[in-house]
Amino acid sequence: MPQAIPIIPGPQVVPSAVCFKCQVCCRFPEQDSFLRPYLTEDEIRQAVTHGIPSSSLPDHRGSQIEVVRHPTDEGFLCPAFDPITQHCHIYEVRPLDCQLYPFALMWNAQHDWVVLGWDTLCPFLLEQADGDRPLTGGAPPTTMLTLPKALMEQAQRVATYLESDNVLNALAGHPRLVTPFQPDVVVLQTLDRLTATLRSSNMRDTR
Ligand code: SF4
Ligand code: SF4
Repeated sequence: MPQAIPIIPGPQVVPSAVCFKCQVCCRFPEQDSFLRPYLTEDEIRQAVTHGIPSSSLPDHRGSQIEVVRHPTDEGFLCPAFDPITQHCHIYEVRPLDCQLYPFALMWNAQHDWVVLGWDTLCPFLLEQADGDRPLTGGAPPTTMLTLPKALMEQAQRVATYLESDNVLNALAGHPRLVTPFQPDVVVLQTLDRLTATLRSSNMRDTR
């Protein structure tokens, strides 16, 4: 039986109290959004055990979740998300894809290196970020933004975790955990071991 991917070490990046008031995560503007979480075989088994309909995960060897129409608003929701309480029904066993956010694991724009970055669409991280304002005034371009030391240290912990043997093996079996390039994500570092693993087995599947 495949091993579960271990939980990401360290504190949660964004305090839960902040997320409960935010309207970004777990919601998707399109039914086929490539940002829908991808679950591995083991994560699917745990999600179904915790009450997610197995029909929400079309391929039980690993697949992105099928979202449902928002009951009172536009767009779509993860079926594990409760829009009234703003809670995830499977929070204790939420997949790696969700644990990672607001960090992002993706291919670079040229699709030749896997990188770790942070998503400027997360209002909490954007508020924490600092950047030199252009001489012409206005907000700094997102590529110039830097995170505070504590968040950079957490990003480093996540990068080390992603390239640990256990997680590397899991990612090699599920290359779709690496998303296509996202222009809103600020790249922090390349993930050389993971890139080499996916390149050597020619596993560059994207969503
Ligand atoms: S976008 Fe950021 S603040 Fe909002 S729910 Fe997601 S992680 Fe929390
Ligand atoms: S599994 Fe939970 S954390 Fe992940 S998108 Fe669904 S509701 Fe959000």
